[in-house]
Amino acid sequence: MTGNPNKQMTEQELINCFEDAINYDHIYALYQPQINHSTGRMVGAEALMRWNHPLYGMQYPSDFIPVLEKNNLIFKADLHIFELVCRLQRKCIDERISVVPISVNMSRYDIYNHDYVESIEAIRKKYDVPVKYLRIEITESSAIGGMELVSSVLDQLHSYGYLVEMDDFGSGYSSLNILKDLNIDIIKLDINFITGGIGGRGGTILSSVVRMARWLETPVIAEGVETMEIADYMKSIGCNYIQGYLYSKPIPEDEYIKTLGSLNHEPMEAEMRLLKTIDSGKFWDPESMETLIFSNFVGAAAIFSYDSEEKTIEILRVNQKYIKEVGMGRTEKKIIKSDPWDILDENNKNIYIGTIKKAIQSNDEEECETWRTICTNVCGEEKICVKSNIRAIGTTGTRHLFYCMVQNITKEKQNIDQLLENEGRFKYAFEHANVYAWEVDLNTWDMRPCFRCMRDLNVPPVVHNYPEPLIENGIFPPDYADMYRGWMEKLAQGMDGLEAIIPLTVGRIPFYVRYSLEYDENGKPLKAYGSATLVVDDKDKK
Ligand code: C2E
Ligand code: CA
Ligand code: CA
Repeated sequence: MTGNPNKQMTEQELINCFEDAINYDHIYALYQPQINHSTGRMVGAEALMRWNHPLYGMQYPSDFIPVLEKNNLIFKADLHIFELVCRLQRKCIDERISVVPISVNMSRYDIYNHDYVESIEAIRKKYDVPVKYLRIEITESSAIGGMELVSSVLDQLHSYGYLVEMDDFGSGYSSLNILKDLNIDIIKLDINFITGGIGGRGGTILSSVVRMARWLETPVIAEGVETMEIADYMKSIGCNYIQGYLYSKPIPEDEYIKTLGSLNHEPMEAEMRLLKTIDSGKFWDPESMETLIFSNFVGAAAIFSYDSEEKTIEILRVNQKYIKEVGMGRTEKKIIKSDPWDILDENNKNIYIGTIKKAIQSNDEEECETWRTICTNVCGEEKICVKSNIRAIGTTGTRHLFYCMVQNITKEKQNIDQLLENEGRFKYAFEHANVYAWEVDLNTWDMRPCFRCMRDLNVPPVVHNYPEPLIENGIFPPDYADMYRGWMEKLAQGMDGLEAIIPLTVGRIPFYVRYSLEYDENGKPLKAYGSATLVVDDKDKK
């Protein structure tokens, strides 16, 4: 911008030059557009403060803003930027250039200045800029000074009609509580704060924040997006709004006005509009009545969303009964993370999509039955038939939200189907249906049974202190209890290949029980995999 070599100014130099910097616009704003990555339209912009000293050259916010904050000068600087933004919006409106809302940063020190809201209001009125073209960004760290203070500033801003953005969301300070307690209109997620990469833990954090924001009906802007890959990823988890170098660096006013003219605009909207009958805030709150009802008083149920354009489906929430009914030993996390289409073949997928479409049209409950192939660690592949009752509960553009009650009707279906099977198929199915499998963690003595164990023997998804509870309830008969406890000791010591015929359950049905071991890299036994096969007499087999 200037031909001067940039020299970082000392604290004293900054303080001395501050008045001039304000008066002669050495302190000014650059503008960074915010884009809807799905449509390419502009939804807003952020004003970012710069200081270009006539002699020392460009100074950067990370250097001078802390100095201004420390010396009580930030309030004046922030009001100066706010005024420049109002001046720009006024100019565009006068020149009939279509504008988008511009966000202005509010330092956390401005919170302590009781004049902040009244001061920006006075400036806004002076330039006669509609409040919808201005937004205020506060940072999470503002809450350090106490929630009451931030909360009252927020109320004040809202009372004048300003939308407020939570900047740097996820950078610290118990983010979840802040969202719950403060009335935030827009969330800004800086993806550079998310460690662990989008493929790993970071991705899980990002998608859960976006999902949560959806429940709060709060739009999310992803900040610091530099690559198409990350923008596409954000879009895939339901966050379309992008601010970052991928689309544009912060640019000077004249360039910004050109960008305004060259792009279409659209308003920013929450990803999800819920039907009025549901209070989304309460629905998300783990302690609310809605959640209580969802978890305890309804049958097996899930909430999922469906994109009618992309034909993608995403499970957002499941209750415990759902996990028990159709989870097949999968954890809630695994169910939510997986792509539901993976377990449906083409035919069953079409049946399901057809029912979804009917539910959208009828606005009523629609029912279907689909077969799913579920792969689990212990059971291997298992086919189950699920009856689903689907009802639409929310919608936004191509995205629809559904409430779905499920019932596992495999047994009923199989009974009917098996009658129709030929004899050979029947025998095959019979033999396979009589393998039971489970895994035992040799450190914690937690046992996880396969779905068949849960279904036929009523074993819970996790059995602690294995094998005692199963000895107690008679699945392992008392006369075999000590021998079986001995096996556990041997397994823990690394003895592989244990096998014996054991009469199981109070009915003393003979099963061929076998164990194999998994070891860690040091050769220490980690897990034991058990299986029990029904012993069938040769004469029965014929
Ligand atoms: P911020 O509010 O989080 O602003 C976003 C920062 O990310 C900006 O840095 C922006 O230039 C940068 N950025 C945008 N896209 C990308 C990208 O794709 N990759 C990377 N690596 N960075 C990107 P900037 O302009 O240096 O501002 C730094 C911080 O200074 C701001 O962070 C904000 O906290 C503060 N600041 C800036 N302007 C003002 C202001 O007017 N008032 C106050 N109080 N603070 C301001
Ligand atoms: Ca900001
Ligand atoms: Ca930020």
